[in-house]
Parts: sequence; structure tokens; C-alpha cells
Amino acid sequence: MDKSGGCLCGAVRFDAVNVPGTFGICHCPMCRRWTGSALIEVSIASEDITWTGAEHIATRANSEWAERGWCRECGTGLFFRQTKPGKWFGATDLPLGIFDDPNGFTISHEIYVDQVPDGLACVGTDHKRLTRADVLALNPDLEDDA
Ligand SMILES: [Zn+2]
Ligand SMILES: [Zn+2]
Repeated sequence: MDKSGGCLCGAVRFDAVNVPGTFGICHCPMCRRWTGSALIEVSIASEDITWTGAEHIATRANSEWAERGWCRECGTGLFFRQTKPGKWFGATDLPLGIFDDPNGFTISHEIYVDQVPDGLACVGTDHKRLTRADVLALNPDLEDDA
């Protein structure tokens, strides 16, 4: 499906095509700090996203293999992107909350479920739930992260 969205102040906007109908949730400590909760993300091929106002985007690499981007005007988190070639390279993960219409998606997976703050639970159990060890087994590049 096609989707659009943008930051709180409107300086940065995106239009995306071939958007999958699913989202994942990452509970790793880096996503927890970055979002203040957990990163609910829709993973889209980077070439399927067109940014407007890209000059307002700031990025920071918080590990040797990935970077996060945000609006330098209002602080809205805009994306997580792997920068090191390897598994999951070439995709940009957009927070579900920055979509103009965040409806029409279903949850496919939660990762780092062993690091969810106690007292926080996501609804539903019919999706994949991976611990940190499960995630590292899928992609050893993440070893230095979190
Ligand atoms: Zn903004
Ligand atoms: Zn994470």
C-alpha cells in the first residue's frame, strides 16, 4: 500500500510505496531510550521512500552498523536504518506513529521480549516473540548493540 507521514512540525514529510501491512516492535534498550518506550516500526525498502524536507533531518550512528534519524526542528524520531551491509541492509524502519494514517497494519513480531519493562505488555500472542538471544542468532552483526 501507499502511505504518507511526517514529523510533528511538518518540516519533514515522506511518501512511501510498497508499504507492507505489518509492523514489528523492538524493546531493545537503544530503541527504548530513543522512543521513550518501544520502537513500533514498519520496515520499508529504502528506495520506496521519498523524503521531503530532508535538509531538516539529522542522523546519528549509535552503533557501527546502524543510524537513527530525527527532525532537527521538532525532535520527532523519523527512522532507524542499518548502514552496514549485511542482513536487513537496504531497509528503513519508520515509526508507526509518524504515519498520517497508522491504521491498516497488523503486528508481525516483537523482538528483545526478554527486555520489556515489567508492567508493559503488548496485546496478542499470535505473533513471533524473540528474545535478545534469538535476535542475535538471526543476525550476529548486532552483537555490539544494546
Ligand atoms: Zn519536525
Ligand atoms: Zn531496537
